[in-house]
Amino acid sequence: MDLKEALTNLAEVRRDLDAAAQAVARAKQALEETAEAKALAELKKQQAALSGEYMATDDQARALVLAEFQATANKAPAKGADISIYHEAEYDPARLLAWCQERRPTYVLLSLDVKRIDKNADDLMRDGAPLQIVERPRVRIATDLSEYLPKCHYCGVMATSNGPQGEPICADCAPVAEATAAVGEPTCKEEPDA
Ligand SMILES: [Zn+2]
Repeated sequence: MDLKEALTNLAEVRRDLDAAAQAVARAKQALEETAEAKALAELKKQQAALSGEYMATDDQARALVLAEFQATANKAPAKGADISIYHEAEYDPARLLAWCQERRPTYVLLSLDVKRIDKNADDLMRDGAPLQIVERPRVRIATDLSEYLPKCHYCGVMATSNGPQGEPICADCAPVAEATAAVGEPTCKEEPDA
């Protein structure tokens, strides 16, 4: 192959590659304009909005569990929500470092080995280390909170939406309730004129 042929080959492959990239871009755009792709984009938007709402509602529930515990000392203020107490070592790092360097050098790596200190805080305190153990409440919320979800007004299973009168309703009862609401309540027949 001479140089001219090689450059011709290169020019042709570049041209074809450009065309291929454009074809991919056109196909992608066509795909994005389909009803399915638009529906998917809308669903993703709703999902993202719910994720934000989830974090806010989770924070709110945790804050209320903690407030209830602080007011009443009740560690299980509601079904599915409780408080566990964990212990945390509190100390002045410089003082503890100095103490460990002298008395417990294995607790010092490049600086204080905080993991090891947390794990052995009780022993260290007993040996006179300058630290104290504090209790901290931690809120736990059950994974399954389904008992809090509204039940279907008609059959009692978990409701998935609201019915025609705003009543909680399941997917099975919804069509029946809507059909009934459309027909309306039966009215009394007027008495025929005498
Ligand atoms: Zn139902």
